[in-house]
Amino acid sequence: MTGTVDLLESLRADTGMKREFDRLVACYPQKRAALIPCLHVVQDKLGWLPDEAVKFVAEFFETTPADVLAVITFYDMFHREPKGKHEIAVCRNLACKLRGADDVVKALEKKLGCREGENSPDGLAMLRTFECLGGCTEAPLVAVDWEYYRNVDPAKAEKIVDALAAGKKPEQELRPEEPEAPAPKDGKREIYLTKRMRSIGHTRAISLDEYLKTGGYVAQKKAYGMTRDAIIEEVKKSGLRGRGGAGFSTGLKWSFMPKNDGKPHYLAINADESEPGTCKDRILMERDPHSLIEGITIGAYAIGAEKAYIYIRGEYKHAAHMLEVAIEEARKGGYLGQNVHGSGQNIDVFVTRGAGAYICGEETAMMESLEGKRGHPRSKPPFPAQSGLWKSPTTVNNVETLVNVPYILNQGADWFRSMGNAQSPGNLLYAVAGNVKRPGIYEMPLGTTLRYLIEDCAGGMLPGYQMVGINPGGASSGFLPPSKLDLKLDHDTLKAEQSMLGTGGIMVVDDKFGMMHAIECLVHFFEHETCGQCGPCREGCAWASKIVHRFQSGKAKLEDIDTLLDLLDNAQGKTICVYPEALAGPVRLGVKHFRHEFERLASQPMSLGSGSGTAGH
Ligand code: SF4
Repeated sequence: MTGTVDLLESLRADTGMKREFDRLVACYPQKRAALIPCLHVVQDKLGWLPDEAVKFVAEFFETTPADVLAVITFYDMFHREPKGKHEIAVCRNLACKLRGADDVVKALEKKLGCREGENSPDGLAMLRTFECLGGCTEAPLVAVDWEYYRNVDPAKAEKIVDALAAGKKPEQELRPEEPEAPAPKDGKREIYLTKRMRSIGHTRAISLDEYLKTGGYVAQKKAYGMTRDAIIEEVKKSGLRGRGGAGFSTGLKWSFMPKNDGKPHYLAINADESEPGTCKDRILMERDPHSLIEGITIGAYAIGAEKAYIYIRGEYKHAAHMLEVAIEEARKGGYLGQNVHGSGQNIDVFVTRGAGAYICGEETAMMESLEGKRGHPRSKPPFPAQSGLWKSPTTVNNVETLVNVPYILNQGADWFRSMGNAQSPGNLLYAVAGNVKRPGIYEMPLGTTLRYLIEDCAGGMLPGYQMVGINPGGASSGFLPPSKLDLKLDHDTLKAEQSMLGTGGIMVVDDKFGMMHAIECLVHFFEHETCGQCGPCREGCAWASKIVHRFQSGKAKLEDIDTLLDLLDNAQGKTICVYPEALAGPVRLGVKHFRHEFERLASQPMSLGSGSGTAGH
C-alpha cells in the first residue's frame, strides 16, 4: 500500500514530467490531445502503466481513470502489466512470415525461456509479436525497445538476446543502400523522390544544410509568392493523386477546404503507414525529412492552415525522432514559425506518435486519436474538410503525396506529367517484399508493370522458390495470380481488376509458404485490427478468419466458400467506415483467383504441416 501511495506521490512531485506534459499540451489547441503523448512519457519512465500512473494522468487531464484506461486498452503499445528490462517485438505479418519470422519467434522463445506475450524468467525482456512493423523489405524485422533490427534470422535473434544480457546494445546490420532500379527499356524514368537520400550515402538523414544546397525550400519561397488558388491549380494540373491508398486528386482535395470561414484550418499528415507490405513513408521520414516538411508548408498554405500535425505510428520511434530533429532545424532556419522569411505566412508542424493501432490510418480514426481518444472512425458526412480536427476544416494528406509537392512547384505540372501515365502521373515508391533476390524500395513511374518490379528490379525469385501469388499494393489490395504479371501498376488498371494500387507495397507469395497461408495471414490481420464499433465488421472479420483458418488446417467444407462471401455481403457498405472493403481484398480476390486452392483444401483434408504449402518455413 505504501509503495502504491509513494509512486503516485513521486509522479505528482516529478517536476520534469510536469514540464514535459506542459510542453506537449502547448502543441495542441485542446489539452486532451496530449493524452497519448503523455502516456508515452509515463510509460517510457516506468516501463508500464500501473494504476497509479493511470490515476496520475487522469488527474492531470481532469478526467476519470476509467476514461484514461479506455484509451490505454485500445492501443497495442501500452502495457498494463510490468514488462522486462527490454521489449523485443517481432513482426509477424505476411512479409516477415514469408522470410521466416515464425522461426525467429521460436528461437527467441527458446533463448529467453518464455512464450510470446510473456516476460523472460530473468526479467531481461518481454517478447511480443506485432502485426506489421513497417519493415517489409528488410524482413524478418525485430524491434528492440522500438529500435529496428533488419534481416534477423534465428542465429541473429540469439545474438540480440546475448548482447542485451551482457548489458550491450545489440549489433545492428546497417541499412543497405536501396537497390537502384535498372532503367526501363521502353520509356523515361527520372529519379527525384530518392535522389537526395542517395547522394549522402545510406545510413543517415539529410541535414538542413545539405537540403538547402540541393534546392531545398526554394519551392516554399516560390509558393509563398503565389496565391493559394494558383498553387491548387498547379497541383490539380499535375494530376498528383494521393499516395496513401485511395488515389484521390490532391489539388481537388485541397480545393474542398472552405474560404473565409473564420475557423482555424488544419493539415493532418497521415504517417501511420500500418498497411502490411508498406514501408516507403518510413524511408522518406528517416532519410529526407525536410522534403516532407517543405511539402507540408506548401500544402498548409494552400488550404489556409497555420498548424500541421504529423500523425506517425508509434512503432516508428526513430522516424519520429528524425522528424523532430528536422523540424527544430527548420524552425531555427526560419522555414517554420511566424512570418516565415518575411512572407507574412505562419506555419508550425508537430509530431504525434500513435500507439499501435492499424485503424488509425483511417483518416477519421486518425483524427480521433490525434484528439487523444480511442481510434474509432467517425461517420461521414461531415467530411474532414467541413469538420475535422477539433471540429475545424481539415485536410488529410499522406507523407509521399506531400513530398511530391515541392518538386511539382519547382519543375511544373508538365514535367510531373511527363512521368507515369495520363491518369496516374509521377513516380511512386514501390516496395517489393517476399522471397525475391533483392527486396527493396524502387522509385519507378506509375504504370510500371508487376513483372518489371519483381523480375527486373527485385531480381525475381530466390532459387528454390516459385511465385504462386502477388499482393500488389498492401493487404487491402488482395491477391493476383502470376498470370497477371504484365499488369501495369496504376490506379485505374488495378481498379479494373477489383484490386487497388493502394500503397505500392508488393508482397510476393511463394510455393513453400502457400496461397491459403498468405490469405489466412492477412485475414487474421484484419480480425486483429478491427476497431469493433460495428457488429458486421467485428463479427464478420472474426468469422472470416475462423473460416479461412479452417481451409488452411484442412477442416473446411466446400460450402464454406459461399459462407465466406456471404459474410462480406453482410458487412460491405453496412458499417461506419470502409474497413470491410479492405477485408474483401484478400477474401474476394482470394476466392476469385485461387478458388482451386479453396476447393482442393476442402475436398482433400490434410493436417497442418503435412506439406503442400500449408506450413511456413
Ligand atoms: Fe470499426 Fe470496422 Fe466499423 Fe470501421 S467498419 S468503424 S473498423 S468496426
